[in-house]
Amino acid sequence: MAEVKKNEEPRIGVFVCHCGTNIAGSIDIKAVMEYAKTLPNVAIADDYQYMCSTPGQNKIVEAIEEHKLTGIVVAACSPRLHEPTFRVATREGGLNPFRFEMANIREQNSWVHMHQPEEATEKAKDSVRIAVAKASLLEDLIPKSVPVERAAMVVGAGIGGMQAALDLASAGIKTYLVEKNPTIGGKMSQLDKTFPTLDCSQCILTPKMVDVFRHENIELLTYTEVEAVEGYIGNFDVTLRKKARGVLTLEEAEARGFVGGGCNGCGDCEDVCPVIRPNPFELGMAPMKAIYIYHPQVSPLLYTIDFDSCVKCNLCVDICGDKKAIDLNAKDEFETVKVGTVILATGYDIFPIEEKFEWGYKNYDNVITSLEFERLICASGPTGGHLIRPSDGATPKKVAFVLCAGSRDNTGVGKPYCSRFCCMYSLKHAHQIIEKIPDAVPYLFYMDIRSFGKMYEEFYYRIQDEGAKFIRGRVANILEDPVTKNLHVNAEDTLLGRPIDVEVDMVVLAAAVQPAAETDATRRLFGVSCSQDGWLLEAHPKLNPCGTTTAGVYLAGVCQGPKDIPDTVAQAEGAASAASIPIHLGEVELEPYFAVCLEDKCAGCGMCINLCPYQALALVEKEGRTVMQVTEAKCKGCGTCGGFCPGGAIWMQHFATPQIIAQIDAFLLGGEQ
Ligand code: SF4
Ligand code: SF4
Ligand code: SF4
Ligand code: SF4
Ligand code: SF4
Ligand code: SF4
Repeated sequence: MAEVKKNEEPRIGVFVCHCGTNIAGSIDIKAVMEYAKTLPNVAIADDYQYMCSTPGQNKIVEAIEEHKLTGIVVAACSPRLHEPTFRVATREGGLNPFRFEMANIREQNSWVHMHQPEEATEKAKDSVRIAVAKASLLEDLIPKSVPVERAAMVVGAGIGGMQAALDLASAGIKTYLVEKNPTIGGKMSQLDKTFPTLDCSQCILTPKMVDVFRHENIELLTYTEVEAVEGYIGNFDVTLRKKARGVLTLEEAEARGFVGGGCNGCGDCEDVCPVIRPNPFELGMAPMKAIYIYHPQVSPLLYTIDFDSCVKCNLCVDICGDKKAIDLNAKDEFETVKVGTVILATGYDIFPIEEKFEWGYKNYDNVITSLEFERLICASGPTGGHLIRPSDGATPKKVAFVLCAGSRDNTGVGKPYCSRFCCMYSLKHAHQIIEKIPDAVPYLFYMDIRSFGKMYEEFYYRIQDEGAKFIRGRVANILEDPVTKNLHVNAEDTLLGRPIDVEVDMVVLAAAVQPAAETDATRRLFGVSCSQDGWLLEAHPKLNPCGTTTAGVYLAGVCQGPKDIPDTVAQAEGAASAASIPIHLGEVELEPYFAVCLEDKCAGCGMCINLCPYQALALVEKEGRTVMQVTEAKCKGCGTCGGFCPGGAIWMQHFATPQIIAQIDAFLLGGEQ
């Protein structure tokens, strides 16, 4: 526990910020400052236009020396924004940086009470009084330094995860790249072309996949999932489940003494395998054997057995012969690795658009999703790149694209947010059918076209010029002609102000995206928060979009929110940079907000142990007594044990019971305590 300086007379300096007119526009700064001067323990109160500026911080530094201050209160914005700034100023003035308290009179006051200046001013006085009460009881705290393991982990090997892994590895950091699927590449490997440049997706992705596979600092762990996580920044112990693949790599075969053995990707086993099932990579539009690879460009080129469908007929073992690459008795294996930092890049799934039953997906053969369209139009897809109607194999001439399908939807079935890249890929799809099918007409039903990126608006103009028809209005329903299997798309054309019914051969739904299925389980293992929609929550949406509130864990790509490929790659590079900093520094300071056991009060009942979500508590024997011990490095300072302990034996540093009670008294008793 931090040293309590007994008999120290508190001398608090209060600084009230104007923030231009952000605060001063609705709060009477002078009145708050004069009020602060009347509070117990306040030695000086001052104000400034912008407290976070250099002159503003200098006021704090100089006042500490001049007024022999023991604590600082700044009434300004949210601590999330500038607490670190003012801690530095407090330290530069000669005080322990944790002798600082912030009163939020902007986000929690002036911004929400901008038309109630008198009430806002009174509320600001309350906030300052409460902060002074706590600041009067603050103590010196010493952050703990811990060494950082010189290794990182990236979870998810789509384009974001691969980029992050390559950047970390190129910076000389050993990087574990963990992917749940048998191959890397993610959703991008399922795309045909990318907007607005119309590059072939595989052509730009494959070299990256090869780089990842060959990089000496990347340990690629495909068909692997995160099973358990322990530890903290600098020292995460991550247990991985390596799912039983049933096929040995060259190295694994050699380790078993089969020199020259292992899978060489010849594909003979696939030819003889009698089990046929839907191919998930082709979204069920092509068959796949029980022993499989997704496509010829997979990395690594290594077959996998789906043990759920394998009938153990041994045909593959026989044909594999001397290569001895197949092990039908393979079991999941577990491995624990230590890493200093982690990047989550778990990507997205497509919203189950059949839940919007009015569009007929899965009821009508010729209603497909955009990802299915990608596979149908892709040269390596199930039809060799020939776009066909699923109902009869005919070439569609009139194709409707329904944008915002399940996005920007507040009906309760769908997602309220914009999925951000479906406008652009629908424009690309319109271009592709005009290019591939003579006389084809694409109809785009849209609410707005969001072409916000570099060269995106120009691409939009290009597709207009190529002859695509744009109809502004949300599609109400789609009805199938039972004879022709054509589809009637019913919508209101909001520009013409009348309902329309467009008969088309095929409908493509630009379905919303949602966090990948495993995202929630993975983020819980790493202690990362999520938004209401399940997207992983960044530490700050503007100032720290790659970080999370769990030190040492960073985000890359769509797992943080919908974004296109350029933004995903940019964020991955940012996350890799952020994740490499602690590793290059070699050690990090942990905030000293951990629990401390007051051993003389602890009855050793052990009831708090299972309450701790971070396994930071354990009973130990000390001088003949059983008492609780906190592992500081594991404790996240959540306060659960402190709030629970019936004997008051847990002291929460910086949020100690006397400090909290002083705040409550200051609030309830006003200036009369
Ligand atoms: Fe605005 Fe906060 Fe800076 Fe004050 S400290 S000027 S409230 S951002
Ligand atoms: Fe690999 Fe053997 Fe199958 Fe060839 S037959 S792809 S070596 S497992
Ligand atoms: Fe296919 Fe399984 Fe038979 Fe091999 S053992 S050929 S994977 S069904
Ligand atoms: Fe709708 Fe376009 Fe946003 Fe997708 S990107 S949700 S189609 S506005
Ligand atoms: Fe029991 Fe409190 Fe001690 Fe935990 S800290 S063992 S709850 S007395
Ligand atoms: Fe565990 Fe208590 Fe620390 Fe919370 S404050 S992490 S419950 S030891």
